[in-house]
Amino acid sequence: MIPFNRPPVFGTEIEAVAEAVARRQLDGDGRYTKECEAWLAARLNAPAALLTQSCTDALEMAALLLDLKPGDEVILPSYTFASTASAIALRGAVPVFADVEPGTMNIDAAAIEPLIGPATRAIFAVHYAGRVPDMDTINAIAARHGIAVVEDAAQSIGSTYKGEPAGTHSAISTISFHNSKNVSAGEGGALIVNDPAYVDRAFILREKGTNRRAFMEGQVDKYTWVDLGSSFLPSELVAAYLSVQLHHADTITADRAATWARYADRLAPLADEFGLRLPDPVGNQRTLNGHIFHVLLPDARHRETVMEGMKARGIGCSFHYVPLHSSPAGQRLGRAPMGCPVTDGTAPRLMRLPLYYGMPEDAVDRVAEALADTLRGLT
Ligand SMILES: *Cc1c(COP(=O)(O)O)cnc(C)c1O
Repeated sequence: MIPFNRPPVFGTEIEAVAEAVARRQLDGDGRYTKECEAWLAARLNAPAALLTQSCTDALEMAALLLDLKPGDEVILPSYTFASTASAIALRGAVPVFADVEPGTMNIDAAAIEPLIGPATRAIFAVHYAGRVPDMDTINAIAARHGIAVVEDAAQSIGSTYKGEPAGTHSAISTISFHNSKNVSAGEGGALIVNDPAYVDRAFILREKGTNRRAFMEGQVDKYTWVDLGSSFLPSELVAAYLSVQLHHADTITADRAATWARYADRLAPLADEFGLRLPDPVGNQRTLNGHIFHVLLPDARHRETVMEGMKARGIGCSFHYVPLHSSPAGQRLGRAPMGCPVTDGTAPRLMRLPLYYGMPEDAVDRVAEALADTLRGLT
C-alpha cells in the first residue's frame, strides 16, 4: 500500500519533548517557542514570527490585526480551505470569492480587480500546493486601491518566489504545521509579521489581549487587559517537537520537490494520451516545496471511479476542497458576484496523488503506472 500522506519523523523529536518535560516548563513562549520563532524570523527575514496553535489561529490574528469589521469585504480564492474564509467571517466581514487559474489553482490576479468596491479592505492570497501566486501583480492591485494583502502560506514553507521565501511578499502571512503539511507538529502554525507596524499588537492578540510581553520585557510595570485577543499560543510540547522538524525543513523540501519533479516527468505522457491536465511547469520565477501533486482528470464523472481504481491497486489518492462559494457556509456568509467558472470546472476533476517525505522513486513510478492503467480501463 502506498499511503497518501505520511508525516516525517526524524527520531529526535521525542528527546526535545522529554527535555521540555524534564524542565517542567510546558506553557508557551519558553525556550523552544523562541527557538522556532528565531528560525522562522531568520528564514523569512521578518521583524517577527509568532508560533500559534494552528494556521487557522494565525489567519484569525491577521483578520484582527487588519481590524476587519462587519460590512468590510475581503477577496480570496474560492478554492481554499475553510479557515481562510472563516477568519474573515468571524469578524463579521464578507468573504468575496474570486476565481482561480486552471494551471495552478491559485487566485487569478485578473479576477481580483473587478471584485474591488468601496467596502474592500484586503486580499487574502492562498499559495495552493505550495506555489506562490502572482504576488507582484496582486500587490500592485492592492497598492492601487489602498488595501491590505495577507498571504495564506499554510502549504508553502520552503517554496520561493523571485528568489525570496514564500510568506515574505505581504504585510502578514500565515503558515501551518498541521500533520498534513510538509513540516509537521501534529497541530501548529505561525504568524509571520513582515510589516513592523503590526508587531506589538500581534503579541497582545496572542496573549489573550494582555500586555504580558511588554511586562515580561520590563516595559510596563502592570500586566493587564489592553485589547482584543485570544489564547493562540501553543504549548512548549508542540514547540519542542516542531523545533526538530524545522531543523530538517530543507531536507524535507528537497526530498518532496524531487518527488514532485519525478511525477511531472512520469505523468507527461499520460497528459497527451488521456487528456490529463498536470499542474503548470514551475518556471524560473519560483521553486516549489513539493507539498501537493495534483492532476485534473478529463471528466468529473470519472473521479470516483479513478480513485477506486487507484485504491484497488493499493494507492491512496485524495480529492480536495468543495469550492467555498458553493459550500453551505460560503453561500450564507460570502459572495461570488462574478461567479467562479474555472473553479467550478476544475475542482470536481482534481485528484491529489501520494506525496510524502521519503517516498521511494519506485513508488512514484508505481503510482504513474497505476494511473495509466486505471485511465486505460475507463474508456
Ligand atoms: C492547512 C491549511 C489551513 C489550516 O491550517 P491549520 O494549521 O490546520 O489550521 C489554512 N489554509 C490553507 C490553505 C491550508 O492548506
